[in-house]
Amino acid sequence: MSADAARRRLPARGSVRLDMPVTYLKGVGERRAALLRRLGIVTAGDLLTHVPHRYEDATTVSPIAALAVGMDATIVGTVISKGVLPTRRGLRIFQVVLRDDSGMIEVSWPGQPFLDRVIGKQDVLLVAGTIRFFHGRQLQAREYVNLGAGAAGLEQGRVLAVYPTTEGLSVKVLRSLLDQHLDALLPLAAEFLSPSVLSAAGVPPLPDALRMVHHPTSLAEAAHGRSRLAFEELLSLQILHRRANAIARVKRTGVRYENRKQLTAALKAALPYELTRAQVRVLREIVADMRSATKMHRLLQGDVGSGKTIVALFAALLAMDNGYQAAMMAPTELLAEQHMRTTSALLEGLGIRPLLVTGSLAASERRAAAQRMAEDGPLLVIGTHALVQEDARFARLGLAIVDEQHRFGVEQRQALGSKGQHPDVLLLSATPIPRSLALTAYGDLDVSVLDERPPGRRGVMTALRPESARARVLSFIGTQVAEGRQAYVVYPVIGESERADLKSATAMYASLSGPGGAFADRRVALLHGRVPADERDAVMRAFRDGAIDVLVATTVIEVGIDVPNATVMLIEHPERFGLSQLHQLRGRVGRGSEESYCILLGDAGPEASDRLRLFAGTEDGFEIARADLRLRGMGDLFGAQQSGTASFRVADPLRDEELNERARLIAEQILADDPELGSPQNAALRRSIGARYARGLELFRVG
Ligand code: ADP
Ligand code: MG
Repeated sequence: MSADAARRRLPARGSVRLDMPVTYLKGVGERRAALLRRLGIVTAGDLLTHVPHRYEDATTVSPIAALAVGMDATIVGTVISKGVLPTRRGLRIFQVVLRDDSGMIEVSWPGQPFLDRVIGKQDVLLVAGTIRFFHGRQLQAREYVNLGAGAAGLEQGRVLAVYPTTEGLSVKVLRSLLDQHLDALLPLAAEFLSPSVLSAAGVPPLPDALRMVHHPTSLAEAAHGRSRLAFEELLSLQILHRRANAIARVKRTGVRYENRKQLTAALKAALPYELTRAQVRVLREIVADMRSATKMHRLLQGDVGSGKTIVALFAALLAMDNGYQAAMMAPTELLAEQHMRTTSALLEGLGIRPLLVTGSLAASERRAAAQRMAEDGPLLVIGTHALVQEDARFARLGLAIVDEQHRFGVEQRQALGSKGQHPDVLLLSATPIPRSLALTAYGDLDVSVLDERPPGRRGVMTALRPESARARVLSFIGTQVAEGRQAYVVYPVIGESERADLKSATAMYASLSGPGGAFADRRVALLHGRVPADERDAVMRAFRDGAIDVLVATTVIEVGIDVPNATVMLIEHPERFGLSQLHQLRGRVGRGSEESYCILLGDAGPEASDRLRLFAGTEDGFEIARADLRLRGMGDLFGAQQSGTASFRVADPLRDEELNERARLIAEQILADDPELGSPQNAALRRSIGARYARGLELFRVG
């Protein structure tokens, strides 16, 4: 410490600055500075904004004497002995005995012998976990914080901040650094958001927020302080996204369609049902886009069965009313054919015959199709990615629709959008996520949401069944098939070679359809990604036409095919699938007038069972997508689509969904008043965005 002190050059009183290196702070020498750097803390300001990732408060800590088997508890105690125990099965368990004023308890960390190196005798630990009975009471640790040697327990009523740390730097050290310097640093953190923005967002000013975050008097206060920091991150990103959109839009001059209400009105009159309110609303958004001088670039999200196709069809007719061509691209031939059939039926009375373009057209058909596409005049083309191949030429493509857009690569989506005169683009997606999250993920798109299902749709009965119920489940499916219905049976892998411990589609196909199998006397077929595409389509067609009773498959059947007579979806090893994926699979049944069933078969672990129960309990795709996000994180869902957006330090767009929505509205307002953030009152906000996103300010410069 004294060597540290010698190296340290203390700044003169009153000259503390947020941008000075942490080594200028009392208590930080070179060694600590190096450790802090690992946490991204280089300057005093970084230390100030190093916020706790959670809190412990005295009200949540139980006295050791009061612990009973089965409880989930948090305790604080001193390590009085420790050691690593081998078990017979080769697992090594780290164990300590913890003592507080009331008593002692054994705490165990199975499989974590390395903790012996980081936890010492006399260390004070805060541990959370469940109490089991094992030669007496034992707490099995779920998580712990090392408060350091000889740390005082939680003072009465005080909320204890728990900071992210790194090896060699204890929470205790971080906490004491902040304790020591907070008062000097806080006044330097000047608020730059206007009072009206803060009050609209319902968050406190920055210095107050930082005080609340580091030294809260209650958990509620800590959360309130945190909301200010999260809001700033969300607001910055929303402003950037809106700005990026605005710039893109300027560059995207498109067709200025007129709402002539000829074909569209005729379709409306011919529809066998009323549009839902949600359909009317999103259509209005689409029509507004198409009537404006800028090109549409819109994502339409809606749960399976929410009726996206008809909305897209109205948009197509609006383009055709203006003499343009419209194209709808689907990810499989089968789906393209299905769209062809349903739209042809709807448009027959209007005298419109859509054109189907897929890879399996005969050469002569292909030539005929090419000729129709080359003619100037309104036309609806439905097809697969054959639509974007080199030789596909449109005379006057005004609208490109991409169905099940997540099934296409970015290039294919863009390829359709760059055909001819760069048409308006409408993307359809069945992964419904809340609007503000969608904007966070796909910043450069406008988003419409279909959050209502057509009336009269009956739900799918969803059940979890243990392995022991296998025979009964299979015989139930047999009964359904005997009544003339059809069933899907889905597996997570194609063959046994991929995962020897999982049932595979290929092996189960053989066993279910083979001699003595549950469906030995039924028509059973196998479908997976390694079946050649033309054969795959043939199998799906046969299933659609009722020539197959049971389809054993992998998730290749996930995409929007409509077989109303299929009433059972059996999913094996359901824990291997994401919730949204299960939801898509479930969407394959419940499309006809008969009662439908989704059965998840298998013995999943307790954690997976919770997930699956959640799935079984709701058919709301938004709720499921949200749960999926919560469980698997945003990155997983957005993957490569999330381009160049910074990750958040404090905000969690999911947990902070409501705050994110407020940030979106406020960003809209700020940019409406000052599109380039050029006014003096927005100068600090502009600087902050620039500091946060290296590319951010460029977006403002381009405009
Ligand atoms: P998805 O959004 O999954 O693509 P579809 O567009 O395939 O859904 O629509 C599912 C079914 O609902 C179709 O059979 C369609 O005809 C029907 N449908 C769509 N809109 C309505 C409505 N407003 N009222 C009744 N049925 C509707
Ligand atoms: Mg669809």
